[in-house]
Amino acid sequence: MSTRAFIGLGSNLDEPAEQLRSALRALDQIPESRLAAASALYTSDSLLPGHPRFTNAVAALDTSLAPLALLDALQGIEHDQGRVRKERWGPRTLDLDMLLFGDQVIDEPRLKVPHYHMQARPFVLYPLAELVPADFRLADGRSLAQLLQDCPFVGLERL
Ligand code: ATP
Ligand code: CA
Ligand code: CA
Repeated sequence: MSTRAFIGLGSNLDEPAEQLRSALRALDQIPESRLAAASALYTSDSLLPGHPRFTNAVAALDTSLAPLALLDALQGIEHDQGRVRKERWGPRTLDLDMLLFGDQVIDEPRLKVPHYHMQARPFVLYPLAELVPADFRLADGRSLAQLLQDCPFVGLERL
């Protein structure tokens, strides 16, 4: 059975746009998975003052993998693209967050879905909105239209 997952992509090191394009190709290569769609790229300032600007996008991935197997695959791609884990939110070549996994709510030590902070992040909500119908709801019932209303398009540039 195939599930549609939404993956948030982010980079602010080593040619971010190229990192994201390479990551999209890698997502399509994950076993039992197919890249269904990708948003435009967006740029915005880092959450940490003085750090390089981020480039972000969201991808729709149809997968037959279980959620934790998909997380393993995402972390493998981050690793392959040279991510080194240091400070939280610090500069990184690639960050892949599992935003949504079908209609599942997941609360495990390694994996919380919907991604815990997506409602506060315009660089997640606006690209996601490109890929879903206007009446889309998250697995926990929240309406995307409402989240967008509460999270203005501020500081974001669509490339
Ligand atoms: P943030 O989580 O605020 O976006 P971050 O992406 O920089 O920050 P990471 O260092 O990439 O944080 O991830 C920390 C841990 O979060 C990972 O080791 C992973 O196990 C866990 N995690 C929990 N839920 C998710 C999810 N939905 N997608 C990806 N990782 C998750
Ligand atoms: Ca993240
Ligand atoms: Ca992450």
